[in-house]
Amino acid sequence: MKLAIDADTCIGSGQCALAAPGVFTQDDDGFGAVLPGREDGAGDPLVQEAVRACPVQAITAEEG
Ligand code: SF4
Repeated sequence: MKLAIDADTCIGSGQCALAAPGVFTQDDDGFGAVLPGREDGAGDPLVQEAVRACPVQAITAEEG
């Protein structure tokens, strides 16, 4: 899996960090960010929750 957040789309709602705090965080400006080294999703089943929870579909999770 390869996780990415479209910074142009993210509105900084923080839902991703709430849904999967082991993988996502918020940067200093409140925008969503993938934690360092967790770009592969770290096998965390909550990642899919975070993808669903994002109100603007800014998170992409490519399989492979
Ligand atoms: S849930 Fe979506 S909009 Fe909210 S901080 Fe995360 S990526 Fe950004």
